[in-house]
Amino acid sequence: MNAVRYNAPSQFEITEIPIPPVGPNSVLVKVRLCGLCASDKHLHEGSFFLPYPYTPGHEVVGVVEAVGEEVIDIAVGDRCVVDPIIPCERCFFCRRNTPLYCERFSGLGFGPAINGGFAQYVSVDSKNVYKFSGISDEEAVLIEPLSNAIHGLDRINAPVGIEALVLGSGPSGLMFAQLLKVSGASKVVLAANKGRKLDLAKEHGMADEYVEVDRENPVADWEAMKERYNYGFDVVIEATGSAQVANDAIHYVRRGGTLLLFSVYSHTAVVSWPPAKIFGDEIKIMGSMCQNRCFSRSVAYLESGKIAVKGMVTDKFDLKNYGAAMDKMNSRDAMKIVLKPL
Ligand SMILES: [Zn+2]
Ligand SMILES: [Zn+2]
Repeated sequence: MNAVRYNAPSQFEITEIPIPPVGPNSVLVKVRLCGLCASDKHLHEGSFFLPYPYTPGHEVVGVVEAVGEEVIDIAVGDRCVVDPIIPCERCFFCRRNTPLYCERFSGLGFGPAINGGFAQYVSVDSKNVYKFSGISDEEAVLIEPLSNAIHGLDRINAPVGIEALVLGSGPSGLMFAQLLKVSGASKVVLAANKGRKLDLAKEHGMADEYVEVDRENPVADWEAMKERYNYGFDVVIEATGSAQVANDAIHYVRRGGTLLLFSVYSHTAVVSWPPAKIFGDEIKIMGSMCQNRCFSRSVAYLESGKIAVKGMVTDKFDLKNYGAAMDKMNSRDAMKIVLKPL
């Protein structure tokens, strides 16, 4: 089969590798789409250490091609997505039932142990396979990112009736805005740079109010927002990945409120927050990375239509154009870029 193969940071080839074997509990999935996300960009640049060679790709949508003899409830022809997380189940954190903090954290597309979805097939344990129906592949490719946002909301554990601010209009920002609305927020404000992504949010009424930030001259818009919402917000979700926005986000949090950091930030980025404000205003600061068994709820949300992701896939590339797909990630207009291996 054809697959993307990395041999060193930024050095990849599209090459022929064997179709992975199907063990007694495994499912062979023919990949129909695989999404690219910020962590793929970081992998590409080599900012997470992984042994080479490996095939990335962790946002897999496909069709079941074969199943091992012990697999139950999944059959050839089922449409499915794959939960990419594979904790070791043996380390200090796994033994404490916190597999997300696994010391030997592995997963689909994260290292040589298991080939990711930038390939024609993946073979995965059946416990990581989730069936879906009634939605397009382009919608289903958002199930993995939505699972991560659901985990973020679990982390916040906010009561109903809150006022929330979401920073950023990438897929995660738009999904957070909608999740907050269906979870009982009384007001959701979405603040992001002007452009196509924010327009999509407005078109579908994903938030209640919008703050459009001018890319060239953002300071005035942020100041105006602070004035307009002078009590701040119970919950502020940082989903831009910008260290500068994360730095300023603390100033939009209401007394007693919560700031959630939800992006893959550069390892060298730092913030400078006034401890007197965090102390005096009793601000809670938390992070949210990945997810743990949130796929079922994510599938249910998309199948029910309560969370809209139509229009989020903006660019589709063949496997052989993987390099162009990577380059497109720097584009302002691209939301979710996907690879189509077949
Ligand atoms: Zn991802
Ligand atoms: Zn572990």
